Amino acid sequence: MRAQLLTEANRPLIAADLPAPRPGRGQLLIAVKACAVCRTDLHILDGELVHPKLPLVPGHEIVGTVVERGPEADRFAIGDRVGVPWLGWTCGVCEYCRSGRENLCDRARFTGYQIDGGYAELTVADQRYCFAIPESFGDIEAAPLLCAGLIGYRTLRLAGDGEQIGIYGFGAAAHIVAQVARYQGRQVFAFTRPGDTAAQDFARSLGAVWAGGSDERPPEPLDAALIFAPVGALVPAALAATKKGGTVVCGGIHMSDIPAFPYSLLWEERVVRSVANLTRRDAEEFLTLAPKAGISTATITYPLAEANRALADLRHGALQGAAVLVP
Ligand SMILES: [Zn+2]
Ligand SMILES: [Zn+2]
Repeated sequence: MRAQLLTEANRPLIAADLPAPRPGRGQLLIAVKACAVCRTDLHILDGELVHPKLPLVPGHEIVGTVVERGPEADRFAIGDRVGVPWLGWTCGVCEYCRSGRENLCDRARFTGYQIDGGYAELTVADQRYCFAIPESFGDIEAAPLLCAGLIGYRTLRLAGDGEQIGIYGFGAAAHIVAQVARYQGRQVFAFTRPGDTAAQDFARSLGAVWAGGSDERPPEPLDAALIFAPVGALVPAALAATKKGGTVVCGGIHMSDIPAFPYSLLWEERVVRSVANLTRRDAEEFLTLAPKAGISTATITYPLAEANRALADLRHGALQGAAVLVP
């Protein structure tokens, strides 16, 4: 099968022709139809996430069809369309798994990081971590739901029920979360790189009531802020824009250092927290909600062979929506 392979951090992916993987017990062999590109893929390529399997097929926003089933893999039928997210395996017995927090599992394994992912024609996944994709979404449209959507949804959920929601970094996750927030009757305030009027227009087109630079203050204080850009300096900026008792949620897996800031920004019960990974419950809830909320995804497609170009475009902030690789 054709695949794009990471052999070493800080090197471009290389095109490879690999033997087709085989599904083991409880696993599905999936023909990949689309795989979205996530900022986490860049963090892996750049060596900021330090323990990838190598060589690695990246990619954890996979949509495909089941072409073969391993022993005891009967949850889906041959031909079924499934999605494969970042959470690829959990132990089921650690204190986190036993308390409904499998996203924090001590021994979790992640797709496109410790398990080969979707930058390929075929992939193998544990059936327990695969999800049916709502029919109203095409393969390419659905791919960004699997991480940008799911982890974005978890980020919004952990921000609480406030009405005024700020979103810092208006990329793939934000463009989905903004639609969910609006469906829930909330107001979205979008913060982009200063001067990025194209991204601000994009945010307004998705229902943001205000869009401006991350160096600006919103017209009214926020109940909560979600940070999707991997920039630590946004944490004090977001706290300064947030009401008493408000929450700032960091939605990314990696961020540059957070600069020191005066305690007065945190005072009055403001909260700073992160979001790690996802649970299968998040996936089920979000994939049920997405068609009801009429979520539409903006995608830019690239042939699989041009994965490096897709990653470069994501790195340089050139995308409105999500890059999706098509084998
Ligand atoms: Zn991701
Ligand atoms: Zn566990």
